[in-house]
Amino acid sequence: MPARCLDGNAIAAEIRAEVARDAASLLDDGRPVKLAAVLVGSDEASRLYAESQRRLCGTVGFAYELVELPADAAQDDLHAAIDRLNADASITGIILQLPLPAPLDTALAQWRIDPYKDVEGVNPANIGLLFYGEPLIQPCTALAVLEMIRRSGAALRGARAVVMGQSTIVGRPVTMALLARMATVTGCHIATRDLAEHTRQAEILVVAVGKPRLVGAELVRPGAVVVDVGINRVVERDAGGREVKRTVGDVDFESVRAVAGTITPVPGGVGPVTVAMLLRNTIEAARKQRQRR
Ligand code: NAD
Repeated sequence: MPARCLDGNAIAAEIRAEVARDAASLLDDGRPVKLAAVLVGSDEASRLYAESQRRLCGTVGFAYELVELPADAAQDDLHAAIDRLNADASITGIILQLPLPAPLDTALAQWRIDPYKDVEGVNPANIGLLFYGEPLIQPCTALAVLEMIRRSGAALRGARAVVMGQSTIVGRPVTMALLARMATVTGCHIATRDLAEHTRQAEILVVAVGKPRLVGAELVRPGAVVVDVGINRVVERDAGGREVKRTVGDVDFESVRAVAGTITPVPGGVGPVTVAMLLRNTIEAARKQRQRR
């Protein structure tokens, strides 16, 4: 029997509906929610992305502000813009649009964001709190992965979990979050020997490597929950020999679906849930800022 496929778009819609209810009740309380995005050197694609963020915020009742800096902005200019947003009580959350133009330092700018307004969960302070098992605001992708596992119905306590990919923004936070929930976690990466020996043990397999369709059925334990974080743009030929651009995951969906118990598709899996988690994090930030005062 093919694996159950989790519908990320439907899950994201449910989360957005919850967020919209929460935003409305915060507004009733006199605490409107507002998200600010900082964009350095706005090209056309970034502007379009910012517009889609503005529309998304509108659907859940958040206000949205785009702060634009010229492409030749200095690191100090960027920090000054972030400082202003940190100090502005009307701003609930801050997003830093990446990539920043060279030679700006991304990590330094992320450090600058107030951890209570860091709705992407990228400030090293927020990543560090995850390490201590006392998260303030968690990285959105890790939250999306946890949500997918929760929806699969799999119990995490004592489960054998393997996380392929150990980047600081995806793989390691997922590894930490699973450990915090008492799974037994193996972190695999580019230097892992005998990858299949690890992955074939996994009751829960999370893949975040950035390699199109790297994980085939031979790497998957029958009945496993497989969460595919990868987003890869590929150009392939269709049946008529024409070139088509596709978005595919790190998992070979068709072959893995035949052995896994539950699987997330790409597109329409972890991606939309990650965006929904950014909105949920913004509500979380509003509540935590209130507790801080
Ligand atoms: P990254 O390049 O920073 O890290 C890749 C990791 O994979 C590294 O730890 C590397 O050692 C490991 N790796 C590479 N090849 C491997 C192999 N053959 N076997 C085992 N491990 C291997 O990538 P990232 O930023 O963590 O992103 C990973 C993927 O997730 C990308 O496709 C990215 O687009 C996607 N992504 C998705 C979301 C989302 O919301 N769905 C968010 C962020 C990133």
